[in-house]
Amino acid sequence: MSGNIDKELIKDGIRLDGRKPNELRDIKIEAGVLNRADGSAYVEWGYNKVLAAVYGPTEVHPKHLMESNKAIIQCKYNMAAFSVSDRKRPGPDRRSVEISKVIKEAIDHTVLTEKFPRASITVLIEILQANAGTRVAGLTAASVALADAGIPMKGLIQGCAVGKVGDTVVLDLDKEEDNFGQADLPVGMLNGPDGVEFVLMQMDGDMTPEEINKGFSYLLEAREVIEKLQRDALERKYSKKV
Ligand code: ADP
Repeated sequence: MSGNIDKELIKDGIRLDGRKPNELRDIKIEAGVLNRADGSAYVEWGYNKVLAAVYGPTEVHPKHLMESNKAIIQCKYNMAAFSVSDRKRPGPDRRSVEISKVIKEAIDHTVLTEKFPRASITVLIEILQANAGTRVAGLTAASVALADAGIPMKGLIQGCAVGKVGDTVVLDLDKEEDNFGQADLPVGMLNGPDGVEFVLMQMDGDMTPEEINKGFSYLLEAREVIEKLQRDALERKYSKKV
């Protein structure tokens, strides 16, 4: 996020890739794509390609992490070396440690961990191709993979970002908008028994309270679209089995 608005990212209300400010990129979701994991999902979100796998509930390793009254969530977000245009140095870095942490916290809040004391639930997110918004695409995929694994949750989590480019509030920033825009605000949402909750929220750049309100109205509409895609993916998987 450079805040360099010299690059014209939006003109007459239309963004560089042809979208309106409140429009999502194309999203495709598939559930149960890996045979070896207990649950899995594949998400294509614009040019992002994301795989999520879930294992568990299983025994906790290392043992000292075990909690007597609840399951622990272990989460790893990883970007493949070939996921970005300049080959990314393989292995964990500060960014992937941070993203793993915020996604873990969102999932911890959503899974009914108290049902599995002394157990571990592992969530692995692999970014195969990245074009901004990978943490929210990863969270969306992870949530479908958890449901596919039969893990009880308050609800499915939908991730999406909102932000600001060329002084306009926009939904679901792509790479160019993320790099040259003025703000990026990735959010994780959950429509649980108590209504919509926000389980992940980060912010890079500046937005006024009015802009944030407008952004959240876009996010709440997008949330419904994404949840429907998640539910359709799970339904396709399980109706096939029947
Ligand atoms: P998010 O992918 O959740 O939007 P960031 O805002 O940190 O997370 O990253 C935005 C985009 O920048 C990524 O989706 C990816 O396309 C690119 N990017 C991130 N890290 C790297 C890296 N180490 N090398 C090259 N590109 C990267």
